[in-house]
Amino acid sequence: MSSQEQAVFDRAHRYLNRAGPRARIALWQLPLVLAIVLAALASPAGWETAPDRPLVLAGLVVQSVACVACLAVPWEKYSDQVALAIPLLDLVSIGLFRNAPGGLLQGLGTLSVFPVIWIAASMRSGAWALAVCFVAPLIIASPTLIDSIARRVPAGANGALLLPILLLIVAVAIRAATAGLRLQERLLRSQQAALRDLLVESLSTERLLTATLDAVHVGIVAVGPDAVPSRWNRRFGELVEPLGWKLSSRGDAGEAALPVFAEDRRTPIPPEQRPLRRAAAGERIDGEVLWLGQGKDAVALSVVARPLAGPEGGAVVAFGDVTALAGAVEDKAELVRTVAHEFRSPLTAVLGNLDLVLESEAIPQSDRLRLEVAQRSAERLLDLASDLVASSSNAIPVRLEAAELGSILSARVDAARLAAVAAGVRLSLEVEGPLWVRVDPLRIGQAVDNLLSNAIKYSPDGGTVTLRACQDDGWVRVEVRDSGMGIAPHERELVFERFFRTSQARRSDIPGVGLGLAISSWIAERHGGRLECDSEPGEGSVFTLLLPAPESAPV
Ligand code: ADP
Repeated sequence: MSSQEQAVFDRAHRYLNRAGPRARIALWQLPLVLAIVLAALASPAGWETAPDRPLVLAGLVVQSVACVACLAVPWEKYSDQVALAIPLLDLVSIGLFRNAPGGLLQGLGTLSVFPVIWIAASMRSGAWALAVCFVAPLIIASPTLIDSIARRVPAGANGALLLPILLLIVAVAIRAATAGLRLQERLLRSQQAALRDLLVESLSTERLLTATLDAVHVGIVAVGPDAVPSRWNRRFGELVEPLGWKLSSRGDAGEAALPVFAEDRRTPIPPEQRPLRRAAAGERIDGEVLWLGQGKDAVALSVVARPLAGPEGGAVVAFGDVTALAGAVEDKAELVRTVAHEFRSPLTAVLGNLDLVLESEAIPQSDRLRLEVAQRSAERLLDLASDLVASSSNAIPVRLEAAELGSILSARVDAARLAAVAAGVRLSLEVEGPLWVRVDPLRIGQAVDNLLSNAIKYSPDGGTVTLRACQDDGWVRVEVRDSGMGIAPHERELVFERFFRTSQARRSDIPGVGLGLAISSWIAERHGGRLECDSEPGEGSVFTLLLPAPESAPV
């Protein structure tokens, strides 16, 4: 079927569907009624004496019943095959007209073509349709046929047989012509049924999905490539709508005005760096924490984002409420900070008094040794308390100033020399030229101290520790290389985490609490740089502090 034919078919189908079954049946009936009326107008003689002829009267009654039935019966309640009673009644009425005495209406037999077309086009069974279309006209012509045979007039018999044969041919032609349409209609019906099933299924999946999404206490939102939300669950609405983002307005206008802060609760996150924009651009986010809102109503959210596969693009972003967890972590840090802080004053007093006592000449040698042990232990406790205070505070204060790195490093090497000698470690410093940097000398000194003391501490069999500094590709590199015990590959990334110690360090009884590298790494980050580790077990380690190189030498 060409597209033009399809369009005509669709239009006709739509029109007939709109008209309803009663109008459709009346339309089928109309041509026959018009033909009878025309015949009556053309030759009124055949009908004038109708009241005297019962067959004509009966034919008119049957035809009237058929016409009234067309308009009065609620056909929509019945199968479309029931309506075929009307063309059958038509055939009866035509039979009665044709065989009325006098032969004036004999020509009306040809009107059987109308009900025959109706039956051939509409009856579901092809065999039955053809049988009815042949047998009914045969019955209509049978009085003439029987009469011709009785009177031995072969031409009359042949003429009478012509009507059923011609109508059978018409029925076959109609059947063949409408076969394609019927097939098309059947196909359409099955497609419609499949579509209906699909719709029902997708509606129930949709209901299940909505109920599931609304049941979880995680805000979930799907965004398009333009970062505008296309779907969201109840919890997401509860999170953002009280802050002024009207999701139903289908835009991201309110999003920019949301108060969104980084994990430190202070740094505002600009709109283009927020999760929805980054996810829409294809970024995967795993458990990043941000704060929504300020003050006591602020909510800590852990964000997970995954891009959506497919040509439409976009992403799904989930926001888990971790306010309670963030509060607990903060409380713990506060407790550690307070306790460590409270330790420092008495320890300072203990150390001060020990210093004074040790200055005295009158102390016997055996007591002096004991007091020195006490002094070293108190010093270690004080260092630990300082580390704990620094590690439990999110912000390590950093005051940047122009400084020459070589002199800072050389001072730190001098400070570490005593420990190096005690451990049998050779310590050397290599600095390529004067290296001007913008750093906090105190903090950088603290980080280098940590790296040097580790390099010496974790080289229990002596060896070499080299501190090297140079400028390299926009960075100033400060490298601490040792030939000590090294770190296993699976522990290399973990050494920067607070309180982590390698299994070998723990086995070797080397003192430490696992805070030095975490603090050094934060110091590097506060300078806009980073701390890296490269190490092989048994072959030593290289810790590299990378600091951004200034554009030019500072004044
Ligand atoms: P601490 O030395 O107090 O344990 P750090 O944070 O400085 O804490 O170091 C964390 C862990 O990393 C150490 O316990 C040790 O296992 C490992 N580590 C650090 N530096 C080295 C090094 N130079 N060689 C081998 N292991 C090291």
